Amino acid sequence: MHQGPDRSRYRPRDALLLLALWFATPAWSSQASIDQTTTKLDLRSDSTWLLDEQADQSAEAMFERVDAGSFQPLPAHGPTFGFHDGAFWLHNSVLNRSGSDQRWLLVLSYALIDSVDLYLRYPDGRIEHFVSGDTLTFAARSVSYRHPNFWIDIANGEDVDILLRAQSRSSIQLPLAIYSPGAFAEMAHNAQLGLGIYYGILLGLLLYNLILWLALRDANHLWYVLHLAGVGLLGACIFGLAFEWFWPESPWLANQSVPIAIALAQLAMHQFARRFLDLRTIWPLGDRIAKGFLLLYAALAIISLALPYSTAVLIGTALVFPGVLFILIEGFYATRHGYRAARLFLLSWSVLLLGSAVYAMVSLGVLPKTLLTEYGIQIGSTLEMFGLSFALAYRYVSLRSENERIIHSANEQLERRVAERTGELQSALEQLADANARLRQLNRHDPLTGAYNRSHVSESYERMLRHVQHDRLHLGVLILDVDHFKAINDSHGHLAGDDCLRETAKRIQSTLNDERSVVARFSGEEFVILSPCAGWDEARNVAEQLRQQFAANPITCQGTSMTISVSIGVHLIDPLAPEPLHRVLTLADRALSAAKAAGRNAVVCSNAVT
Ligand code: GH3
Ligand code: MG
Ligand code: MG
Repeated sequence: MHQGPDRSRYRPRDALLLLALWFATPAWSSQASIDQTTTKLDLRSDSTWLLDEQADQSAEAMFERVDAGSFQPLPAHGPTFGFHDGAFWLHNSVLNRSGSDQRWLLVLSYALIDSVDLYLRYPDGRIEHFVSGDTLTFAARSVSYRHPNFWIDIANGEDVDILLRAQSRSSIQLPLAIYSPGAFAEMAHNAQLGLGIYYGILLGLLLYNLILWLALRDANHLWYVLHLAGVGLLGACIFGLAFEWFWPESPWLANQSVPIAIALAQLAMHQFARRFLDLRTIWPLGDRIAKGFLLLYAALAIISLALPYSTAVLIGTALVFPGVLFILIEGFYATRHGYRAARLFLLSWSVLLLGSAVYAMVSLGVLPKTLLTEYGIQIGSTLEMFGLSFALAYRYVSLRSENERIIHSANEQLERRVAERTGELQSALEQLADANARLRQLNRHDPLTGAYNRSHVSESYERMLRHVQHDRLHLGVLILDVDHFKAINDSHGHLAGDDCLRETAKRIQSTLNDERSVVARFSGEEFVILSPCAGWDEARNVAEQLRQQFAANPITCQGTSMTISVSIGVHLIDPLAPEPLHRVLTLADRALSAAKAAGRNAVVCSNAVT
């Protein structure tokens, strides 16, 4: 079977295609031929294949089967065979009609093949054998490139049989193409740009979230970083980059890193989802199930180091489906629960799932290969990474506004309480001031007569001295005693005696009619009067007025009118030569005694007493 040359060349449009990350090579050919214009020849569609179940057939035996026409056309969905223990043989024949003998690079665009053997049979019957695959070190490759590749020489006019034997413990895909050196450089260059953009985004988000984690100490960011690291590592394994850059000397790690990356990406994703959606609070049962997944993935990561690669990768792949589905359910649950950031989470996750589903359908041949369908996983995971970053940011915004709301209402409550308490305090203070004023009043007044008491005299004595000094006056000190008061008590009763004392106090105050004077009940029926005076004469006059008032006007006690008399002792103080109060009172009292001795109803000045 011959088919025309593949005229496809890379145009700018291709760079767009490559944004979708890795480059694959669709085209058609069976026995393909190379002419002058050929730069790339896709060998997929018209390759024929045969499964060697026991993986024990030789190349010679297989060439015989090719010649006998035992090889069969590829399945409709292309050279994708799933997991299988046997060896897959792929045959193509290529005719060089280009007029030149240039070298060609045969590339198997799938990184995870363990061992690849290439047999070239030339028209003279000579067979050449080359080996590649990730069970050899990276250095064994013809060109240092992430996918297995071989230089092949096809002389002008020559028809070469290409027989490829592939065996792998992971899923088997055998997309083969040959490139001119220039076309290969162009393809690799463009693919590198796509990968650069993908990993640029991934690394940017990873570092940014790492910094956020270091700054905010919010573990969500750490788990997101680990998820990105897992996704990035898994991608790097699938793209063949991990083997090329991380462990080119270790075919063992090149294989084992796949289930480890699956476990890490899933573990971090489950933990991120649990924390981000606050599953423990909104759905405790779901949280326990999620913990179960965490344990499974942690166990997978550990046993991947010990298990055969084929078993580990099978378990890992099998666990991905229920795990991913469960995260979807968690997202739905949280959204139904009214958690708004969960919507973004769900959207991001769904985009990734959609991309993966589309990719799976393309692999199964259900969907045609287009820009969107073929690179579904990469587009989906890029959108998912952005989506989750936005979800994290959105979560911060909602947490912040919730915090602000709480602080605001707490402040309002606090202000209200402070105002209430201030009001209460204010009224308590007013009551206290009232009580104090009343107490002071009580403290300085005699309860029976309402006149001042003895302690007020002591308190106000110094102050009155200063006032009279200021007014250039003297201070008259009078002690007034009711004559024969005991007799009133005895004949009219004690209540009448009390009345008499009240009336006496009133009478003294109304007679003095001087607001500067102080009238105090000193004891029993004795009153002290402090009164500013110009001198002895005025002091004596004041006393005399008082005495006459009592003698001339009866008082009424308990309905009984009676005339009482008073005796008064007078002393005068010069403020420039002040004497202590007790001395002053003694002198006045002495004068009072003299007045009593003189027959009562009398006024005596202390300067007249010898
Ligand atoms: P003198 O002319 O010498 O002053 O004789 P007096 O009776 O007025 O004096 P005395 O000291 O002998 O008696 C005072 C009386 O005053 C004795 C006491 O029972 C009475 N007394 C003291 N305080 C009160 C009081 O608050 N109410 C009444 N009703 N009597 C009082
Ligand atoms: Mg007395
Ligand atoms: Mg008396």
